[in-house]
Amino acid sequence: MTATKGYAAQDSKSDLAPWDFERREVGPHDVQFDIHYCGVCHSDLHQIKNDWGEGIFPMVPGHEIVGKVVKVGSHVKKFKVGDLAGTGCLVDSCRTCENCQEGLEQFCSNGMTGTYNSLEQDGKTPTYGGYSKTIVVHEDFVLHISDKLPLDAVAPLLCAGITTYSPLRHWKVGKGHKLAVLGLGGLGHMAVKFGVSFGAEVTVLSTSPEKEADAKKLGAHKFVVTKDAEQMKAVAGYFDFILDTVSAPHDLNAYLSLLRVNGVHICVGVPPTPYQLHAFSLIGGRRSLAGSLIGGLPETQEMLDYCAEHNIVSDIELIDIKDIDAAFERMVKGDVRYRFVIDIATL
Ligand code: NAP
Ligand code: ZN
Ligand code: ZN
Repeated sequence: MTATKGYAAQDSKSDLAPWDFERREVGPHDVQFDIHYCGVCHSDLHQIKNDWGEGIFPMVPGHEIVGKVVKVGSHVKKFKVGDLAGTGCLVDSCRTCENCQEGLEQFCSNGMTGTYNSLEQDGKTPTYGGYSKTIVVHEDFVLHISDKLPLDAVAPLLCAGITTYSPLRHWKVGKGHKLAVLGLGGLGHMAVKFGVSFGAEVTVLSTSPEKEADAKKLGAHKFVVTKDAEQMKAVAGYFDFILDTVSAPHDLNAYLSLLRVNGVHICVGVPPTPYQLHAFSLIGGRRSLAGSLIGGLPETQEMLDYCAEHNIVSDIELIDIKDIDAAFERMVKGDVRYRFVIDIATL
């Protein structure tokens, strides 16, 4: 076992605080890498507050993890000491079910192992995430990171990046499509970058009028303030796709009315309470309501390679780990431009 330091929530009522714990010995197929940066996802906050229930405490959050390999197991082929490495939202899965075989490990029928707040495939050992100094992961769940991009700004690609890249690819969003990105936060700003890069006309739907200039800088073609009834009316029946990244309860029916016939509303945000849906919101325009969960390992590597090739990274604010609670508070207020990343050297 390797002793390491992290930041953990001891229960759903506690703030994060320093916590010492251990990583497993590096097994024959394991890679150990020292964490240099870890992104702060809204899911980290949902989980330490137990918004989704069944939290495993103490909880060390963090699933946008990048760093440098310090040790590899005897059978490891893909990595060597000194390589850059990354891990996203999952660290293992059964590997044998139909979904795992297809590279859709996030939908493993036997239950994937999340990077934290989850159990290893043995069904009893808790996993701990990236708000920590070092991590040990099976090589199949470690990703290659290009040295062409700034490492701190790459970290958010491991969750915010793949979570928005995957649905846009699945629904083949591109030239000729009108894409709305609902909510301009960590996920939303990556969705804008990918949507623009794939050739779609991108509109940001936001509750924050002050984000308009940023949205345009990110490449968005239009900006709609969702609290402004006139602006909403002007885009009724307009979009082919809405990618919904909102973390708080909101009225789906109002947004579904912005879709054209056959339009698709894709949920990636996970508010803590269930949606209320009126059937007419779908029936009226033969609309679809869909969802998407992060992405599998092959697609995550594809996304990272795409970003290296097209020079796409996250817009970040680098923070000291002792400021994590203030960062969470600002994130809840929508005051993040557009992803906090923890400099793990400050831990
Ligand atoms: P974030 O940075 O906090 O961004 C969320 C954005 O939603 C805010 O910036 C804000 O944008 C908008 N918003 C907040 N409250 C709102 C409200 N009451 N009504 C309308 N809009 C509101 O969060 P994030 O890290 O991008 O994560 C977003 C959500 O996705 C979270 O629920 C997270 O758990 C989930 N998530 C899902 C997956 C997946 O695989 N499906 C993966 C990662 C994260 P404006 O200021 O522009 O309105
Ligand atoms: Zn996340
Ligand atoms: Zn499986």
